[in-house]
Amino acid sequence: MKKARQSHLFYQSHGRRPVLDQARGIYMWDVDGNRFLDGSSGAMVCNIGHSNETVLEAMRRQMDKSTFGYRLHFETEPAELLASKVAALSPEGLDKVFFVSGGSEAVESAIKLARQYALSIGQGKRWKVISRFPSYHGCTLGALALTGYTSLTQPFDPMMQEMPKIPAPTAYLDGRDPDDPATGRYYADMLETCIQEEGPESVLAFIVEPIGGASSGALVPPAGYMERIREICTEYNILLIHDEVMTGGGRTGRFFAGEHWGVSPDILVFSKGFSAGYAPLGAMVAHNDIVDAVLADGGFLHGFTYAGNPLACSAGLAVIEQIEAQGLLANAEKVGDILKHHLSGLMERYSFIGDVRGMGLLLAFELVSDRETMQPLPREISAFNRLVEIAYSNGLIIYSRRTRGGLEGDHFLVCPPMITSESQVEEIMALLVKSLDTFEREVAPYMKK
Ligand code: PMP
Repeated sequence: MKKARQSHLFYQSHGRRPVLDQARGIYMWDVDGNRFLDGSSGAMVCNIGHSNETVLEAMRRQMDKSTFGYRLHFETEPAELLASKVAALSPEGLDKVFFVSGGSEAVESAIKLARQYALSIGQGKRWKVISRFPSYHGCTLGALALTGYTSLTQPFDPMMQEMPKIPAPTAYLDGRDPDDPATGRYYADMLETCIQEEGPESVLAFIVEPIGGASSGALVPPAGYMERIREICTEYNILLIHDEVMTGGGRTGRFFAGEHWGVSPDILVFSKGFSAGYAPLGAMVAHNDIVDAVLADGGFLHGFTYAGNPLACSAGLAVIEQIEAQGLLANAEKVGDILKHHLSGLMERYSFIGDVRGMGLLLAFELVSDRETMQPLPREISAFNRLVEIAYSNGLIIYSRRTRGGLEGDHFLVCPPMITSESQVEEIMALLVKSLDTFEREVAPYMKK
């Protein structure tokens, strides 16, 4: 009998996973030689695929020069070049880039910059950051206070400042037509109501994932929603923060998802696809006026030791160059449409799939016990874990969570790298169908007859 491996590492739970050996393109292999198709790009991170030789070569070149230069001692070429590139890709007026090492750090940076900006323009009463329920903005206490995901936040409630939340636009659960501008207005106006209830003079910012990620499963806003949100924030002098930690870097078919609606935030944050898994990297990009005011008022009281790490920045730069050189935004859009079409087709075959949604290669499907009422499957069967396990045993990695607007529900993100080809979509679908067939037999007793 094989001796159980001992580990001194710990993450969320005791569960052990295969030991990763190598990864290439959209595939990963464990040390026993088992192959997995990375159908979720890790956690929607590895957008350009694994072991891209051009990125590795750029990193090697940087490694031979220097791997660390403390930001208060040195400027570095990779950080400068990357900041210019990010500014060029960001909406007009957002030209100031602040590097961090991940999504939570980026969100913390954004809310602290927003607060310092309010102070610097004499609006010190503003401190509340409105967010949505459900949402995910990170696991550090500041970002967690904005996160609308009760099971993750509740234990820490006494340690956090309570922040106002409005419902996310879950039109698919509420029986509203997402293509009708009245739907967008209905949900966006909840922001205005919230601002009025809280007292407009106390509200600092509104933070929103343009397309919902882990918490809501690729929730695309209804028609007119993003535009109306922008109007309301402008009207009340509230800063609009786009949390593009998951969407930034091209996964939805545009470099930033906000581009789909032509709206510009005042601050945006992104991380996962930025360095696409080659090094820990994130950024906050802010409007020039905000940064100028804060710097003129004594400076930003914030910064992380690893910020602007030259090795991470060399990876980020090479990743963006690869996205451009390989035309990966267009591929994400094209292959995403094909994959979404196939996923939507599954609704005919499996009555437990209640909704398919998303844009580009940020796609999801949601499980229900009854499509008519959109009732979720019972919590006890832990469907979100079970289907992932089955897929895993078939060599397919997908990502799941159990949360949705107000209620609980299981959704699965199908988000392969942006280099995925049409024939690889067929392969993903074959593995997924095999997994869903097994799951169908297990779940049959729980379906509404
Ligand atoms: N915001 C969003 C929208 C995210 O998806 C995530 C990560 N899932 C975060 C923030 C936090 O990022 P990180 O895990 O890198 O701290």
